[in-house]
Amino acid sequence: MSHDPHCIFCKIVAGQIPSRKVFEDEELLVFHDIHPWAPVHLLIIPKRHIATLYDTSPEQHQALLGRMLALAPQLALEQGVTNGFRTLINTGADGMQEVQHLHMHVFGGPRPWARG
Ligand code: 5GP
Ligand code: ZN
Repeated sequence: MSHDPHCIFCKIVAGQIPSRKVFEDEELLVFHDIHPWAPVHLLIIPKRHIATLYDTSPEQHQALLGRMLALAPQLALEQGVTNGFRTLINTGADGMQEVQHLHMHVFGGPRPWARG
């Protein structure tokens, strides 16, 4: 399934829920988290619905996952994050994943942070 009509991030991709977008291309979308943990808190997501990191494989998703990680420093710098940042992918129940659409958090900006 490339689009899950019940998925909140698929709705953001489709423009059915507004978001503060910072980057978009044919396969990725990046927007600000609605409840930021840090002065800059971005979410990098694939546009296709992939529920979790468990639903990826090296054969099919190596390039996509590489692009998600490789975008982080560029977008951080564009947001003025020059002193370091954190990246995080929560997976599944024990990983405390709340939204079941693969996403990578990018946290940065001057401390203190609200969380993280
Ligand atoms: P998770 O806990 O699944 O790794 O993170 C999900 C993140 O999505 C949370 O940080 C939460 O604030 C964010 N989030 C949930 N719903 C929305 C939304 O409608 N818009 C935006 N921009 N972020 C959302
Ligand atoms: Zn989705």
